[in-house]
Amino acid sequence: MKTYISSWPSDCPALPFPRAISILGSTGSIGVSALNVIEKHPDLFVVTALAGARNLRLLAEQAARHRPPYLAVLDEDGVKALRGLLPAGYFPRILCGPEGYVALAALPEAPLVLSAIVGAAGFLPTLAAAQAGKVIALANKEALVLGGPIIRRACRENGAIILPVDSEHNALFQALAGHDAEDLRRLILTASGGPFRGKTLEFLRTVSPRQALAHPNWSMGAKISIDSATLMNKGLEIIEACRLYGIGMDRVDVVVHPQSIVHSLVEYTDGSQLAHLGTPDMRIPIAYCLCHPRRVEVDVPMLDLAAVGTLTFEEPDLSLFPCLNLAREAYNASDSHPIVLNAANEVAVDLFLKEKIAFLDIPRLIEAALARHKAMEVSDPATVLALDAQARAETLAAL
Ligand code: NAD
Ligand code: MG
Repeated sequence: MKTYISSWPSDCPALPFPRAISILGSTGSIGVSALNVIEKHPDLFVVTALAGARNLRLLAEQAARHRPPYLAVLDEDGVKALRGLLPAGYFPRILCGPEGYVALAALPEAPLVLSAIVGAAGFLPTLAAAQAGKVIALANKEALVLGGPIIRRACRENGAIILPVDSEHNALFQALAGHDAEDLRRLILTASGGPFRGKTLEFLRTVSPRQALAHPNWSMGAKISIDSATLMNKGLEIIEACRLYGIGMDRVDVVVHPQSIVHSLVEYTDGSQLAHLGTPDMRIPIAYCLCHPRRVEVDVPMLDLAAVGTLTFEEPDLSLFPCLNLAREAYNASDSHPIVLNAANEVAVDLFLKEKIAFLDIPRLIEAALARHKAMEVSDPATVLALDAQARAETLAAL
């Protein structure tokens, strides 16, 4: 498939072991799970860099265990504070801010990069990793929503490879490997439905951040948990799927599967659907990406289908959760609309978490932001960032 973002799953070259890795977002849910995988297989990895934002205590603990020569934090104050938390006799280089994260993404010492910063802040570091020709284990779906075509070009020009960590896209990657792109008919992403599946509009009017954060199957960071409750996570993911696999939006479907056991399916022209099943724990797709194409043990209970008993599937409720269609429409409208969709969503989720707006205001603010936007060309990262900033400011101003 010529439009696949880096290379078709069957054609991804393998890095030799031990693999030197930079982990961007090491203090987050994905970062912590990745270090858990790495610590189970210390012979397979060398940690070259760790980057976090505000949780300096956890970053210092991780750094003390792995002694990477490079660290990065949000700002100069963070650099000083982190220095004070590190053990005696250990003097890593500590960088900061967007330039710091970008530098760690492109370190010549580390051919493998885990991109696990949350939100649009992950775009430039992911692009830097692509420009530096890295193997990128990509969790930061927002990077592809903002600048998929730009990242694709950078991968092509520099021989970078993207291995998708997001469980659905990882499932698709595995079900696509060994098959011919011409035989592909449809990608079917599964969605858990989130904590509010089956509720009424009346119920959603008054839900609190605490209720929205309580995901039934997955333990994740705050932003993606709210995205799962609004179904915007699935909206971002259908865009991610189009951009990863070079397939039209009309061939990407979503089915709600509350047990989160089937992680996604690929449908072929002969009517076969190939699914990927597993215990819902991100260490499985993370280990797959970090060790690809090898498979290693992870500390996750094996799936026992008899114990699960029943797997169910249903249509998503698009009237209750309009974010899924807002994402579909944004992708179909232009390459600039998804940037506005993402920016308005990040602002709205942040306001909801601070209890400044109601749950149902999230889709309302995003829809209004998309309605204000006129399609524009986005062929360089500066335009992406400028539009992201503008859409954030306009979303706040429209409150
Ligand atoms: P999280 O909030 O738990 O962690 C985010 C990480 O990014 C932390 O290390 C934080 O310090 C860092 N960070 C936050 N703001 C930053 C900034 N401005 N600059 C630099 N670093 C910053 O998030 P998470 O749940 O681990 O998710 C990370 C990414 O992975 C997201 O894009 C999410 O959509 C994706 N993802 C997560 C899961 C999951 O199960 N958690 C599953 C699939 C995809
Ligand atoms: Mg996912």
